[in-house]
Order: sequence, then structure tokens, then C-alpha cells
Amino acid sequence: MRRLAWLALVAASAPACADATFSDCLARMRAESVQRGVSLASFDAYAAPIEPDMSVLGFLDAQPEFVTPIWDYLAALVDDERVADGRAMLVQWDEVLRKVEAEYGVDPATVVAVWGVESNFGRNFGTRPLLTSLATLSCFGRRQGFFSGEFFTALKIVQEGSIAPERLNGSWAGAFGHTQFMPSTFMRLAVDFDGDGRRDLVDSVPDALASTANFLRRSGWRSQERWGVEVRLPAGFDAALAGRRNRHAVAFWAGRGVSLAAGGALPADMPDSGLLLPTGSAGPAFLVGRNFDALYAYNAAESYALAIAHLSDRMRGKGAFVQPWPTDDPGLSRRERRELQTLLLARGHDIGEADGMIGSKTREALKREQAALGMAADGRAGQRVLKALREATGGKP
Ligand code: CA
Repeated sequence: MRRLAWLALVAASAPACADATFSDCLARMRAESVQRGVSLASFDAYAAPIEPDMSVLGFLDAQPEFVTPIWDYLAALVDDERVADGRAMLVQWDEVLRKVEAEYGVDPATVVAVWGVESNFGRNFGTRPLLTSLATLSCFGRRQGFFSGEFFTALKIVQEGSIAPERLNGSWAGAFGHTQFMPSTFMRLAVDFDGDGRRDLVDSVPDALASTANFLRRSGWRSQERWGVEVRLPAGFDAALAGRRNRHAVAFWAGRGVSLAAGGALPADMPDSGLLLPTGSAGPAFLVGRNFDALYAYNAAESYALAIAHLSDRMRGKGAFVQPWPTDDPGLSRRERRELQTLLLARGHDIGEADGMIGSKTREALKREQAALGMAADGRAGQRVLKALREATGGKP
């Protein structure tokens, strides 16, 4: 109760003092700027005019309103559209991707899969002005030290002429460009691959593809190894052996009855691998090697690394996982999500555009429809509610 009252007080007083606090904060950062590698001329040109955007602070402490099951997460990230788009990119950027592979040892399908998941092949960069978001997060909220480091680094990116400030837009937290690098990651790992003398992850696809490969190589990518394979476990398998980093030789796993999910012996090109069980012993099982760890380094979530890995395999012509996820209500592709939203719009729900993004408006509308249909009103967009709404709307797609 005390905490709530305090929060209400902060909320009420924030707008009045935010401007003064922000200008004091900018003045303090200006005093540090030369020491942080940003000239006063650069600071005055790019940082001084910034007005804070207090809306980014809401994201900093946001609790996920809805925990996405892994089968929903993968259904949207690895759908037929993204596989087809990825294959088109493999063709379009073939020459660059071959050169990238020769230089960094990372194969084209893996590089393109990261690109497809990070920015939908350059279609979704995020729209927030990066310097504004990072300056605000440097002066307010609970991670000011971290964000001020990113802010000064973003100023250095502009100062060195790599990317113009008006092209530097991204996520609320400061990830930007085709590869969604944070400024500090850009500084460490971005490369100029098209040879124009600038590292540009916004307007140069070759720079972005090579920078992704450079990131993976520096994270330990091994060009002679695959990321992993889907496997089948024998009855009574000891699940205590699971864990991505609990690595053993292929012979160890084979000796315990582990085989390829599709049938056959385990491949030899995975010198040491751990057993990944994303949904315990009930769902698909994977043996994953060092390359899976390199994907994990890009974004520390096993579901993320599995999405990249699976998308790369699908682009290489492999199919869906052999073992189904432990659910009787599988997730929806983006096409199916748009169809679901079109049905909701046709049924009078004000959910905005049918963009395939399942946000709070779509979920609220789904809850009302689920309740009316006698289903559990959890607001989740799955195959079951899509099918029910198709039927309720007269079978029209
Ligand atoms: Ca360049």
C-alpha cells in the first residue's frame, strides 16, 4: 500500500520536474563527454537539442502481460512466409553471402535466419529516435549507468560519421538496424563490408550481413559443425542429463539410446553437444553444439536460438520438427494471425489494423469471443479459436 501511494506521488510530480531534471542531467553528461570520447562540438550538435521521451520508461519495468508458449513464439517467427522470404534473400544476396562465409566462416542460411528474426529482413528496424530514447534512459529509471554508456557510444557512432542521427532509429532500448545491435555491440563488432569506409547497419545490407557473421564468429561459431539436430529419446531416459551446457560426445548420447528424431544414427559432426528439452520430456528434444551457444549469445534465450536454428534448417529445405509440441492447440503463423484479426474486425472489434501482431486489443477481443463461444477466455491466439471464429463467421476467411 505504501508503495502504491509512493508510485502515485511520483507519477503526479514527474511531469512538472522532468524537464529541469533532464536539463541538469544533460549538463552533467556534457561535462563527462570529452572523457567518454565525444567532443563538446558533437555533444552540443546532437545531444543538447534532445527533448526527453518519457514513454520509453514504461518499457523498462514492464512485466509481460502474457507469457508466450514456445510453440506460439516459433509459429510466428518460423512460418512459411519467413522461410520463403529468407530463400529469396539467399538468392538476392548470394554473392555477398558467399564472401561473408569465406571471410567469417558462417554459412548463408544462418546469417539470413538471424536477419529474418531480428528485423524481418530489414522491414522492422523500430521507429524510436535512438539518441532520444537513450538520453531519456540515461537520466531516468533504474539502469541509468548502463544506458548512459550506450548513449555516449551512440553519439560516437554519429560523431565518426558511420550513421546519420536521423537514420539512427530503433527499439525503445536502443537496438537498431538490420541486425538490431546495441551501440556498444556496434562499436565492438560492426564491420564495413561494402568498402565505402563506413560501418552502416541501417542502409547497407552487406555491412549488416557481415557484422552478423562477425558477431557469431566472435561468439565461437565453428564452420565445420551444425547447430544441432532433433533427436528421439528412449523410454525411461534420465532427464537429469539434459542441459545445453551439459556437453558430451556423440558416442555418449548414442550409448544411452539417443537417435535422430527422423530415424538413423546421430551425425558425427557434433563433437560435443548438450541435450535441450524446451518443454521437458513431452515435446521435441534436441542435441545442440557450440554453434547453438553462438546463436544464444546474440539474444540470451534458448527459444530465440532455436528459432534462428530452425529457420536456417527450413531455408535449407528441412521440414517441421518431427515431435509435436505438447499442446492440442498449436500456435498461428503470421498469415493466420492476420486472418484471425480480420475475423475480429469483421465481428465489430476495434483492434486497429490486421498486422499480425497480437497486442492487448487483440487479446481483449479474443477473450470476449472465447467467453461467448464457451471456451477458456485466456486471450491466446491459437488454432482452436481461429477455427471457431471461421465457423462462427460463416466459413469465410
Ligand atoms: Ca560500409
